[in-house]
Amino acid sequence: MRSSEAVQYFFDQAAELLELSLEMRQMLLMPKREVSVQVSIERDNGKLAQFVGYRVQHNDSRGPMKGGLRYHHEVDLDEVRSLASLMTWKTAIVDLPYGGAKGGIGVDPRTLSMREKEHLTRAFVDQIQDIVGPDRDIPAPDMGTDFRVMSWFRHQWEKYHGFNPAVITGKPVEEYGSRGREEATGRGVGILANKLVRRLGKKTEDCAVAIQGFGNVGSHAAKFLHESQFPIVAVSDVSGTYYNPDGLNIPDVLRHTLQSPHGSLEGYSHCEKLPGSTLLELEDVEILIPAALGGVITAENVDQIHAPIIIEGANGPIYPVADKQLHERGIIVIPDVLANAGGVTVSYFEWVQNRQHYRWPLDRVRRELEHVLVAAFDSVWEISQQHQVSLRTAAFMIAIQRVQRATELAGGM
Ligand code: NAD
Repeated sequence: MRSSEAVQYFFDQAAELLELSLEMRQMLLMPKREVSVQVSIERDNGKLAQFVGYRVQHNDSRGPMKGGLRYHHEVDLDEVRSLASLMTWKTAIVDLPYGGAKGGIGVDPRTLSMREKEHLTRAFVDQIQDIVGPDRDIPAPDMGTDFRVMSWFRHQWEKYHGFNPAVITGKPVEEYGSRGREEATGRGVGILANKLVRRLGKKTEDCAVAIQGFGNVGSHAAKFLHESQFPIVAVSDVSGTYYNPDGLNIPDVLRHTLQSPHGSLEGYSHCEKLPGSTLLELEDVEILIPAALGGVITAENVDQIHAPIIIEGANGPIYPVADKQLHERGIIVIPDVLANAGGVTVSYFEWVQNRQHYRWPLDRVRRELEHVLVAAFDSVWEISQQHQVSLRTAAFMIAIQRVQRATELAGGM
């Protein structure tokens, strides 16, 4: 299944319940602009290399468009298109004054030296600098990109347009980045896990957690959940699954990844090691957090999923057919558009701070993040109860209504 088909499926389910007209559906689904560009660099060995870069700007009716920049060998136009539309719904659900966009380059960043990565980023900015900007489209980090890439991006863009750090978020804290941005997505996953568990009348100590992916999102979610007394029984990355039914020592795991090359779990030995895919299918798990790739829970493995709660740290980890089955089995899924919205929320705080030329302390960032996510969770929960639909359908219903309203208020239709 193509990723854009999955997003359209979830959109259609909610649009159906809202009795949205066909014209409005088409208008809300079609991206405003799609750009594919050739990005060329000279490799360290002196040879030329070409890559394809993308920026899809989906919708700007609620404000400037916002969305990450992904460096991954599987990046293509279809994936970027679906992620851009997901950003429109995500920013609407948490009620940020933004639209949605996404970009990326089809490249395996592990094959690039630091110098090559910088040149690639700067060459990409040369191609798209005229369509991004603080009031138009504001990129941010995503898979394969980090604060360094954001910094190169900003400096290259400023060569054309002059000083304006609000052009991009996820920058280094010393260079107009926000405190708390790096941890925000994982922390948001943790805030929502706490909220849901309390809503269900359970205790955190009784809710064993398994996390797929131990990068930015997975590791920060693990840290926050561990601090909230959840036992984390399994974590995984490309090197495999690391399992301890009594709960992993998360500070020890984090120390290990800080010392290992590329932040990998490889070589962590104070637990049992299992093959990578087994994490999703563990039986003694209350909360499953896919925080690595899209499309990991499908028709093929959905029967093997036992956790009664799934929190989508990654974008699009559950395919529609599997999502339907999970809902029928009573499994609660906090959907990506809400679950991982902590990142874009603190990105928004960074943009606000840049425009105010003022820096917030970390406790203010954390407090306001919690406030935004809890308010979004409460409204999604309420709609799901009212209409007896999944949290995903409820979230899409809220988002579509907000974007539709903004489109109608703007007029000119
Ligand atoms: P990352 O590159 O920092 O980490 C990805 C992790 O997934 C790594 O630990 C990697 O080893 C692991 N992984 C890759 N393939 C795997 C596999 N087959 N099995 C198990 N683990 C595997 O990426 P990230 O920033 O943490 O993003 C993860 C997901 O969260 C992506 O879907 C991204 O779009 C989404 N997301 C990230 C942010 C953010 O702020 N970083 C915000 C919203 C959504």
